[in-house]
Amino acid sequence: MNEPVNKSAGRKSISVSLKPRELMTEDPRLNGVWTAQIITLFPKAFPGVLGESLTGRALAEGKWCLETIDLRPYGIGKHKNVDDTPAGGGAGMVLRADVVGPAIDAALASAPVGRPLVYLSPRGRRFDQKMAQSWADGNGVILLCGRFEGVDQRVLDHYNIQEVSLGDFVLTGGEIAAQAMIDAAVRLRPDVLGNAASTVDESHSNGLLEHPQYTRPAEWKGREIPEILSSGHHANVEKWRLEQSRKLTQDRRPDLWDAYQNKQDD
Ligand code: SAH
Repeated sequence: MNEPVNKSAGRKSISVSLKPRELMTEDPRLNGVWTAQIITLFPKAFPGVLGESLTGRALAEGKWCLETIDLRPYGIGKHKNVDDTPAGGGAGMVLRADVVGPAIDAALASAPVGRPLVYLSPRGRRFDQKMAQSWADGNGVILLCGRFEGVDQRVLDHYNIQEVSLGDFVLTGGEIAAQAMIDAAVRLRPDVLGNAASTVDESHSNGLLEHPQYTRPAEWKGREIPEILSSGHHANVEKWRLEQSRKLTQDRRPDLWDAYQNKQDD
């Protein structure tokens, strides 16, 4: 077997945690903590925005874990090349199978069985709230971020990688998509949002878009808050919100509205 000379270098993944090391009594990863493992050429891009606000605090508190696997040390030769020209010709570069493969092996080696292995890709199944919830219900996710023209197909076939897309547009790399998807999954973990926000009646959780939100001041540029919201009548407020949700969904997203109505009919 041809072991890549740099295998150990690659295994030393950078663990991103905002918690000072000396305060860590134990490695939360060994404790079955929900972990996002990200294979990327740009580990410095993480935690990025995930280090802010509620996801950042939860990360610092060890409620979830982020681990990056740097692709570069797996590169070939003196220059640690990770990509090469596409077979058959054409523009751009393709990430090599013999570079990405060992990085995936390293990620799998520290992953519990059953953790989803995902390639971020505009060809993939579109990410949605349901997928976020299923990731949140598991023990984490392994995300492979592509760059250039993407990854050699043989890697995707060999590991039977699921391709997931952030939407019908093309990004320069998978890192932004990874952060968006991790954010959506992590905030559904118990304890991450606390009382700061509700994940129950927000857009896409119950099949409807969320009603409009208001806060102080009571009047702004001649615009007032809908009277009912100041009435203190909880049931009427709920009724108003549901009506608004339904109307908004019907106007903006006929596809969601149809699905919602079909569900009500069942
Ligand atoms: N040549 C590819 C696009 C490559 S874009 C194609 O036409 O399908 C470079 C990398 O960005 C991809 O490998 C992927 O990891 C990431 N990427 C681009 N768009 C994305 C999207 N909509 N969702 C998730 N990842 C995306």
